[in-house]
Amino acid sequence: MREGKAWKIEMLGVRGSVAVTPKEYQEFGCDTTCIRIETPEAVIFLDAGSGIMYGEAGENTHVLIGHPHLDHLMGLSKWSALADPSKKIKVYMADHEGMSCQEILHIVFGPPFWPIHLEEISHDLEYVSIKGSFQIGSLTVDTLEGNHPGGVTHFRISDGKRTLVYAVDCELTPEAAKDLEEFAKGCDLLFCDGQLTADDAVEKRGWGHSTQTAAAKLGDKCGAGQTVLMHFDPSSTDEQLEELENKIKMKYPNCVFGRQGEIRYL
Ligand SMILES: [Zn+2]
Ligand SMILES: [Zn+2]
Repeated sequence: MREGKAWKIEMLGVRGSVAVTPKEYQEFGCDTTCIRIETPEAVIFLDAGSGIMYGEAGENTHVLIGHPHLDHLMGLSKWSALADPSKKIKVYMADHEGMSCQEILHIVFGPPFWPIHLEEISHDLEYVSIKGSFQIGSLTVDTLEGNHPGGVTHFRISDGKRTLVYAVDCELTPEAAKDLEEFAKGCDLLFCDGQLTADDAVEKRGWGHSTQTAAAKLGDKCGAGQTVLMHFDPSSTDEQLEELENKIKMKYPNCVFGRQGEIRYL
């Protein structure tokens, strides 16, 4: 760990909707959404997209899932940590469509959609249905209901000295932007949905995603130390994303586009 820094943050997947593999996508990365946070007392994963397959679990591991769309769950199917008897894993998600976290994951990972249930792979797996704020040891996790088809939970994690906000899969209507701005106020690091280009905004209204400009503006308004955009559209190539990032950075110098494999310290 870097001197004076307590959290190591790894971007394991920053792609939205579906994983991509061609060489034109390698710089920003192929895998779907997953951020790993290592703190002195726990390892936390934000979402379990295909990126989680490269994430090392700790003795006590907490997987916080914003919503059950497949791009946020798919990595659980082949995450080797589940089969490791030395790892205790808790998976958290709000109820959706009247179903608990456990019920949803039991359906997605089980016949006929998948050959085996997660609890048949894992030695120590616990499901937690969340609502409102909760604690992971001394860390406080606050939640906000975001604007996304079927609902999504945004997370604000703080140890009292540093705060990270994860708001992915959100369409920033004026009302949603106001709520998120309040929720993320003064955070050190904000991960925000930046799937759409300005050209997409009209055609993809109601799809539950933000334009890069709206997300950068929100980060600026809430005073985030840095805003990292992610959940990039699977059709966006490295060349396109780099060009968009350069444009955004000219107006919002605190905003960057996330790249798979990047590591930050807080
Ligand atoms: Zn998504
Ligand atoms: Zn979604």
